[in-house]
Amino acid sequence: MKIKELLRKNIIAMQPYSSARSEFTASGDGMVFLDANENPYENGINRYPDTQQKRLKEVLSKLKNVPENQILLGNGSDEVLDLVFRAFCEPLQDNVITLPPTYGMYSVLAQLNAVENREVLLLENFEPDIRQILEKIDAATKIIFVCSPNNPTGNSFSDEDIATLLQSCHGLVLLDEAYIDFSSKESWLRKLNDYPNLVIIQTLSKAYGMAGVRLGVLYASEEIVSELSKIKPPYNINRLTEDKVLEELSEPKFFNDKIFNIKTNKMLLSKQLLEVNFIKKVYVSDANFLLISVDDAKFRYNQLIEKGIVVRNKSSDPLCGNCLRITIGTKEENSLLINTLKSFANG
Ligand SMILES: *Cc1c(COP(=O)(O)O)cnc(C)c1O
Repeated sequence: MKIKELLRKNIIAMQPYSSARSEFTASGDGMVFLDANENPYENGINRYPDTQQKRLKEVLSKLKNVPENQILLGNGSDEVLDLVFRAFCEPLQDNVITLPPTYGMYSVLAQLNAVENREVLLLENFEPDIRQILEKIDAATKIIFVCSPNNPTGNSFSDEDIATLLQSCHGLVLLDEAYIDFSSKESWLRKLNDYPNLVIIQTLSKAYGMAGVRLGVLYASEEIVSELSKIKPPYNINRLTEDKVLEELSEPKFFNDKIFNIKTNKMLLSKQLLEVNFIKKVYVSDANFLLISVDDAKFRYNQLIEKGIVVRNKSSDPLCGNCLRITIGTKEENSLLINTLKSFANG
């Protein structure tokens, strides 16, 4: 498989925007920077940020054991996903495959980029329908989006299924591992170099507790990363994000404790939810949320809103009729939720 054959022709031909600050970094001691029309008076943010985010990539590279030149950072996963669309999918010509019910951004970005989205529903057990997916692949298929653990169903897909897709598709398999740190399964990062068409995205928004800084991370071959780097907005990661993330990542133990607590609280909440008589099913979850099916999702959703508790009504997603998605909160928040639900059951 050749990446060049998958890329849009205009992207292959493109030269990246040459920013003043990509030649030298602002941290170069003793240098005088009169190249970027910045304000010279130092306040911590008067300089443009590093276009290549060297400091951040160094830390992520060590943390994830992936070379720096196989990492691309974006303003949230959403920007990274959009870059992949724009690099690989010719509008009104190419297609992508998504597996609903899944993360809504894939279809939004397909529409935005005028790329056909071939939807292949998950099976009743929320596993991918491999046979149908393989049937939908054609010469114009550029990306299959695989979200594992999947949002909103919470389950992880089997390694066999993911491997089959990687081996059978000439296009990219974009594996969204936004919830991998809550999962009992291992990340596919360690197999990155086994599959030239594997693109993995992760995010700091969930397990790492930094949804507010907007940092999405893409891992892929050096070639894919260098093509995407060419087209990304040069200053897409701002200085405040970079500083804050570096500060937070210097204490990895802290994350592990919180992830452990969330997983423990999820198991407890999962048991307690089953004690509520109008909750029909609590789906197994490898993520930091639970999908439950209830008697009347809209009614229960509104009842919760009246008590000041906001969950997500997923009823309009395929296979998710009368389902609510509940994020695992703190111990106190989860207790409040359970007590409130039990009060509805009695009332
Ligand atoms: C939350 C989530 C993300 C994260 O998006 P960001 O833009 O990085 O906050 C990505 N993929 C899935 C499936 C998600 O649920």
